[in-house]
Amino acid sequence: MDIVVVGGGAAGFFAALSAKAHCPGARVLLLEKSNKLLAKVRVSGGGRCNVTHHQLEPRKLAQHYPRGGKFLKKAFEQWSVKDTIAWFEAHSVQLKTEDDGRMFPTTDSSQTVIDALVKEALRSGIQMKLNCGVKALEPSGTRYILQLDTNTSINADRVIITTGGHPRLDGYAWLAALGVPIVPPVPSLFTFNLIDKRMSVLMGVVAPNAIVRIAALKLDAQGPLLLTHWGLSGPPVLRLSAWGARDLLAVQYRYTAQVNWIGMKEEEARVTLNEAWANHPKKQAINGSPFELPERLWAWLLDKSGIPQVKPCGDIGKHDRNRLLDLLVNDQHPVKGKTTFKEEFVTAGGVALEAIDPTTLQCKALPGLFFAGEVLDIDGVTGGFNFQAAWTTGWIAGKSAAGA
Ligand SMILES: Cc1cc2nc3c(=O)[nH]c(=O)nc-3n(C[C@H](O)[C@H](O)[C@H](O)COP(=O)(O)OP(=O)(O)OC[C@H]3O[C@@H](n4cnc5c(N)ncnc54)[C@H](O)[C@@H]3O)c2cc1C
Repeated sequence: MDIVVVGGGAAGFFAALSAKAHCPGARVLLLEKSNKLLAKVRVSGGGRCNVTHHQLEPRKLAQHYPRGGKFLKKAFEQWSVKDTIAWFEAHSVQLKTEDDGRMFPTTDSSQTVIDALVKEALRSGIQMKLNCGVKALEPSGTRYILQLDTNTSINADRVIITTGGHPRLDGYAWLAALGVPIVPPVPSLFTFNLIDKRMSVLMGVVAPNAIVRIAALKLDAQGPLLLTHWGLSGPPVLRLSAWGARDLLAVQYRYTAQVNWIGMKEEEARVTLNEAWANHPKKQAINGSPFELPERLWAWLLDKSGIPQVKPCGDIGKHDRNRLLDLLVNDQHPVKGKTTFKEEFVTAGGVALEAIDPTTLQCKALPGLFFAGEVLDIDGVTGGFNFQAAWTTGWIAGKSAAGA
């Protein structure tokens, strides 16, 4: 049996390895259009490769995918994080877990991951061809003919497409030509550009437990909020950008972000502030924050609410306190535009999931044709979830293509 995998990224490697592991007699060929294998693995996680996330329960893991979570829940029951960890350990890649659950190789180098994948592919006899893009695919009886960039063609019994995401719809034209439905791509994982640039003086400041809310979309996210020279960034912003990817495009990235800098309800904040200032009435306002906030941000909020930094806390009147409290829990920031998050961006959209069987990753209308990885309309938030989706779908597609 001839199995051809199209695309030499994370999903393509796992698909090829799985096909060979499940059917050692099959001829497995991996085609990569560029001159590099695993290019994204190399640059991922700042060169460290955030291989997966330490979430061992498939149901909970699936909750980190704005698109494709339900589809993946079934897939994770076949190949989940623990299988990924075990596979890499069996191939001499020890993984470590950071405090936030992200898992990296203990070497802190993506090269370790690349070496393991390439070494195993060579050992198991997978043929790999670089500079070999596929430009068209035609069913031919029970087989497929692949037209290559080089104006030659090859035949295969089974084809696994792992060509990754593409920012433009025409990047999927050759798949649409087969009748495969495509969900138009939109960017995910970006940061928010603020219209009012005055906050740029706070560049680099982190509010450790902020809540960011986009009321119009009924979306909110909590965590360390990073101020940049263009606006808002950090994990809660990236999560919102992923969950709101389509709706935010629909409003042309113009909306209001409500920031609760301290992650507390207003009443709780009021009690905390009043108690602290009653206990230390002589303290100057600049030294009077009872909240977990960097001093520069506290000073900025005092200025914005019109409270002099040197004013004794006990002398600050109700009106000023209310204004400060309002800013602390409901600071409104008009947003216009986005900035792509360079560390880890993905494309939402791709092959529509209703066309694919989640237990085999086979295209329902085209037997023998399988899809895996980011080419599917699946994307996760940051933290190793995108690679986990690639490992899982790649492994299942390879296994199914091998007939196992
Ligand atoms: C800078 C950056 C950092 C990231 N960091 C992380 C991270 O740390 N953790 C995480 O979970 N996710 C991360 N991601 C996301 C993650 O890299 C992707 O989700 C993942 O690589 C998808 O794997 P894939 O195999 O589906 O696609 P890709 O890795 O995109 O691989 C697809 C391959 O197919 C090839 N190809 C395309 N078309 C054709 C064709 N017609 N014929 C032949 N070959 C073709 C491409 O050249 C490419 O090599 C990061 C993304 C970026 C851009």
